[in-house]
Amino acid sequence: MSTNSDKRLTTGWGAPVGDNQNSMTAGARGPTLIQDVHLLEKLAHFNRERVPERVVHAKGAGAHGYFEVTNDLTKYTKAAFLSEVGKRTPLFVRFSTVAGELGSADTVRDPRGFAVKFYTEEGNYDLVGNNTPVFFIRDAIKFPDFIHTQKRHPQTHLKNPNAVWDFWSLSPESLHQVTILMSDRGIPATYRHMHGFGSHTFKWVNAEGRAVWVKYHFKTEQGIRNLDVDLAAKLAGENPDYHTEDLFNAIAGGDYPSWKLCVQIMPIEDADTYRFDPFDVTKVWSQKDYPLIEVGRMVLDRNPDNYFAEVEQATFSPGSFVPGIEASPDKMLQGRLFAYSDAHRYRVGANHNALPINRPKAEVNNYQRDGSMRFDGNGGGSVYYEPNSYGGPKQSPEHKTSPYPVSGSADSVAYDHDDHYTQPGDLYRLLSEDERARLVRNIVAAMKPVEKDEIKLRQIAHFYKADPDYGRRVAEGLGLPVPQ
Ligand code: NDP
Repeated sequence: MSTNSDKRLTTGWGAPVGDNQNSMTAGARGPTLIQDVHLLEKLAHFNRERVPERVVHAKGAGAHGYFEVTNDLTKYTKAAFLSEVGKRTPLFVRFSTVAGELGSADTVRDPRGFAVKFYTEEGNYDLVGNNTPVFFIRDAIKFPDFIHTQKRHPQTHLKNPNAVWDFWSLSPESLHQVTILMSDRGIPATYRHMHGFGSHTFKWVNAEGRAVWVKYHFKTEQGIRNLDVDLAAKLAGENPDYHTEDLFNAIAGGDYPSWKLCVQIMPIEDADTYRFDPFDVTKVWSQKDYPLIEVGRMVLDRNPDNYFAEVEQATFSPGSFVPGIEASPDKMLQGRLFAYSDAHRYRVGANHNALPINRPKAEVNNYQRDGSMRFDGNGGGSVYYEPNSYGGPKQSPEHKTSPYPVSGSADSVAYDHDDHYTQPGDLYRLLSEDERARLVRNIVAAMKPVEKDEIKLRQIAHFYKADPDYGRRVAEGLGLPVPQ
């Protein structure tokens, strides 16, 4: 901690403070005076020290670093920060759990948020993913319901396994993510020992305007390591900030964690014929069909100076794209394009992008003005509308997003590929016998407290459809039959 003992203590408005130990009273035993404005400001500011915590991903840890390109993929994307081998781009990463509150334990079974902000010369590019390649649901309209099941019961204020398994068993698209979550990788050893995934499908566009579909994989260079469930439970009590501490200490000690960024590339036309819907975020693209291609390396080498300013106020949005990277029709992504920025406008404020941690390194020129906490020059006296005859910033047509043809009726339409079982089954079959045994044990322990057999039986049927052995073993652990 730095010391500034020669500095004069001031009020928020910069005036010297005469006494910071004793409040001003009417006589030594008299009531406190309202004219002690330093006291009033101190208490009032303290009351306002928290911004609302994130409704999901509240508990997290962050670090600064850089991304270095190691492979030329300009044939697929014109993104400037990927334009040449050796090019470095500064970045900020925030890792998090999902369901727990700001003070909750790190070593719980939960997906981990894996959000990266690349400060590129063409604006910030945010890749806001998880440590899992898939998600529980595939349409944003189900997100508030899903998260309610992960949060506390409205009466008891306790976590509620009934709600969790009721929702999952009625939403079989969750089975793939449930299997990953309940496997060893559901509790990473540290934030350094896990992969990261963009999860959604995105679009890359090259300088000629040709597009491909893309998925991102950050492969940990520390190796995958997970926590034994008993150790994780012990740590949750003894050191609930275990992952936060590990990341900070590793970087402070010069042991910089790194990840290799790879992509899978799918030709645009394959999306119509691939055996799974490539925009369905509950599915992966098999790496046998679309092998990983190296892009570059991410290194985290600097801790934040201030947790609130940098980690808590960091705002990531999957809609923060740069030229050469665009959205796909993934319905979950489409919802997130709105929800993340909206959360930040509510939580941090309309001008959250102007805060130092979020401010692009690229010049920002637009006609947005005013709003609470507008702490930069607010455009001064410059022209404040567009089009104008005063030389204000203009659109650049070469940066229009690429066209995407659509057809059909405006309607609420389900994904038409409804195979929820093949990929979780493939995952089950690639696990070793020990890993399967632990997976089943974790599921049985998590499902035991569910009150209704009806819910357990419905979920057992899903495991069975993924792989009969999987279903049978969970049923056996719960002392229930496999439903016909
Ligand atoms: P591959 O054999 O080519 O790839 C298997 C993938 O599974 C690897 O990425 C491997 O990651 C990962 N993996 C291994 N153990 C686990 C685990 N316990 N939890 C999560 N991931 C694990 O096969 P496919 O690409 O055809 O995929 C087969 C299945 O693997 C899928 O159904 C899916 O469940 C799972 N998977 C696939 C991914 C993909 O992008 N295709 C990504 C992650 C999982 P690692 O190299 O680190 O061990």
